[in-house]
Amino acid sequence: MPGEFNVIRRFFEEPFTEHFSNNENVDLGIGDDCALLNLCGTDQLATSVDTLVAGVHFLESAPADKIAQRALRVNLSDLAAMGAEPIGFTLALTLPEENEAWLQAFSSGLLSCAKEFDIPLVGGDTTRGPLSITVQVMGKVPVGKALIRSGAKVGDTVYVSGALGAAAAALPLLEETSLTSDESELLDQYYQPHPALKLGIALRGIATAAIDISDGLLADLGHICQRSNVAAEIDWQRIPLLNALKNCSDKAAIQKCALAGGDDYQLCFTAPEGLNSEVEGFNIFPVGKIMSKVPEDKANAVTVIESGIPLQFSEAGYRHF
Ligand code: ADP
Ligand code: MG
Repeated sequence: MPGEFNVIRRFFEEPFTEHFSNNENVDLGIGDDCALLNLCGTDQLATSVDTLVAGVHFLESAPADKIAQRALRVNLSDLAAMGAEPIGFTLALTLPEENEAWLQAFSSGLLSCAKEFDIPLVGGDTTRGPLSITVQVMGKVPVGKALIRSGAKVGDTVYVSGALGAAAAALPLLEETSLTSDESELLDQYYQPHPALKLGIALRGIATAAIDISDGLLADLGHICQRSNVAAEIDWQRIPLLNALKNCSDKAAIQKCALAGGDDYQLCFTAPEGLNSEVEGFNIFPVGKIMSKVPEDKANAVTVIESGIPLQFSEAGYRHF
């Protein structure tokens, strides 16, 4: 939704921030992966909400257990991007009908995911209407330790937490009934992204900025650049890719999925140069660097270089100048 950010800014962020900018309960409001609320203790409350709408974000015929997994995982990813630890979630469910088999599968998928990440369901709302799933997550983070989008510094290295592009490459496969093992691997990445919660916590006090990649590396690193008032340069050859993606797609499609495709939910973060390529046992991948922003450089704060040559995005994917 290209106009999404204008809508948020114009109708919600600006008017509300204007009125509530000095509110003592809000440490960080609209504009990051989670809001941070002041609980007057040693921890802040991190919270975020995301909606999945049938026919828009998933096929109505999609397996209910997998959709439940995805709904919770994409929200947990926003906690990961803040370095927050999950403490509870709520579920607002709009259903066209009471379909027992669907609800049983949905509930099982949700519970198995909640157990895996140790996050209890603590409330919600159930209504009738077109199928839509809203999950709100809550987490805690020690005061002053949250990872936010606005701290990237010129000279920092840009890292990602894992392979990019697989979930976007899975989109054309959603209605396929017979899949190769490579295609199944891609589909697993779409339905069951791996929120990098432990890495997020390990990066407290280390990362200067962080975001989870929900809209594609270029867009999401662009948000870090915008909030930090910097630019970034990515080295295409350093982007981690699954073999399953390389086996299924040509180069142009791989570049499009890995750079501009969303839904991976890996972390993208910045840290001073020299950070070990392993943070407390996690694999992390240096993919670029933070540069100073050229004043006239507005929309395109992130550039991608391949063998020293900039790539340029077009409808068909990435191509050299
Ligand atoms: P993310 O991809 O991390 O979930 P989004 O791109 O959905 O974040 O949203 C960007 C920012 O705008 C977030 O801080 C989010 O909380 C906020 N936001 C989105 N929609 C609204 C809205 N309708 N009202 C207030 N804030 C919103
Ligand atoms: Mg996010």
